[in-house]
Amino acid sequence: MPSAAAPDMIDELAQALAELEGQGLKRRRRTVDTPPGARVRVDGRDYLSFCSNDYLGLADHPALIAAAQSAAAEAGVGAGSAHLVAGHHRLHEQLENELAAFVGLPAALLFSTGYMANIGAITALAGRGDAVFGDKLNHASLVDACLLSRAELTRYPHGDLAFLETKLKASSARTKLVLTDAVFSMDGDIAPLPELLALCERYDAWLLVDDAHGFGVLGAQGRGSLNHFNLRSDRIVYMATLGKAAGVFGAFVAGHPTVIDWLVNKVRTYIYTTATPPLLAAALSASLRVIAADDWRRARLQELGAQLKAGLAGLPWSSMNSATPIQPLLVGDNAAALRLAEALRERGILIPAIRPPTVPQGTARLRISLSAAHEPADVEQLLTVLRELA
Ligand SMILES: *Cc1c(COP(=O)(O)O)cnc(C)c1O
Repeated sequence: MPSAAAPDMIDELAQALAELEGQGLKRRRRTVDTPPGARVRVDGRDYLSFCSNDYLGLADHPALIAAAQSAAAEAGVGAGSAHLVAGHHRLHEQLENELAAFVGLPAALLFSTGYMANIGAITALAGRGDAVFGDKLNHASLVDACLLSRAELTRYPHGDLAFLETKLKASSARTKLVLTDAVFSMDGDIAPLPELLALCERYDAWLLVDDAHGFGVLGAQGRGSLNHFNLRSDRIVYMATLGKAAGVFGAFVAGHPTVIDWLVNKVRTYIYTTATPPLLAAALSASLRVIAADDWRRARLQELGAQLKAGLAGLPWSSMNSATPIQPLLVGDNAAALRLAEALRERGILIPAIRPPTVPQGTARLRISLSAAHEPADVEQLLTVLRELA
C-alpha cells in the first residue's frame, strides 16, 4: 500500500522527470501488437512505420519463424546456464561457424546483445594504462565500455582522421584501441574504415568495428562493412548485432582465433550470463541463408533510398549524407522535432524523434528507417504527408 507521504527521494525523481518534460526530453513507450513491419498496430491504432531496424524485413519471415519453432520443440526455450557451464548448444556452435564464414573472419563468438558484446570485448582488450580512441558519434555502448575499461578515452570529432592521428602519435600507451561505428546509427553515414585501419597499422592499434547497421545491408550478399571495403587484418575486432537486419536478437564478435579465445576466457558479459535460447540461434542460421540469397531486399533498399532522397530535396528539413537505410531528417529544436513526429503520427505515420543525449544538442531529428518490407507507395505516402506539413 502506498504511504501517504512519498519519501524525499521519490519527490526528487518526480521533479527531475518534470524538468525533462519541460525540455522536450521526456521519453515514453508505446505498446505494439504486430511484428515490426511496414504496417504496425501501436496503442490500438494502425500506422505506416519507419521506426524499425529490421532493414531487410526478416523479423516475421516464415523460414525464421519455422526454424525457431522446430528448435523450440527440440531444444526447449531456455539454454539453462552460461556458455562455459553447459549452455553452449550445438545450434550456437553451428551459428558461430556460419557467422565467421559469412563475414570472412576465422572465428566468431556469440553474445546476448550488441551492448553486452561491446562492453565485454572492449573491457577485455583495454584496461588501466591503455588508451582508447572513439568517434564522437559512436554508439552509447562503445562509450560506456570505454568508461568501464578505465583506459584513457579520447573522443575525436566525427570522422576527423587528422585529429585521431595526432592523438595516436602522441600516445605512449602499451595497448591502443580505436573504436568506430561502421555505419553511424543516427546519421547513416559510413565510417572511413580503410583510412582508420591504415592509421591503426601505422600506430600499432587495434581497430574495433561496430557493424550493427552494416551487417546484412552492406557488402556482397550483405556480408557487412569489411566486405564492402574489402578489408582484412588480424588487428580488426569485428562486432555485429543480430537484432537489426538479421531480424532476430543477439550479437557476435569475430576476429583472429586467439582474440576469440581470449574473449571466451576474459569477458565478464560472456562468462557471467545465461546463454541465449538455442531457438534464436536456429532462427539466425535461417536468417543468414535468407540474407545471402535475397539480393532483391538490398536492391529494394537502394531504390527506396533514392526515391526518398529525391522527394525530400524540395522540403524545408535537411536530409543527411546517408547511403544506408538510415535517412535522418534534421529538425534541430527538440520541441519542433517532437511536433513534427506528432503531426505525422496524427496522419498515420510513425517515425521516432531522436533527441539529445542520443544526438548532439541542437540536432534533434526524425530518424526515418527504410526496410525491404516497404513498397515505393509507402515512401510516396510519407513524402505526400511531409509536403502537406512543410
Ligand atoms: C543497436 C546498436 C548496438 C546495440 O546492439 P543491441 O543488440 O541492440 O544491444 C550497438 N552498437 C550500435 C552502433 C547499435 O546501433
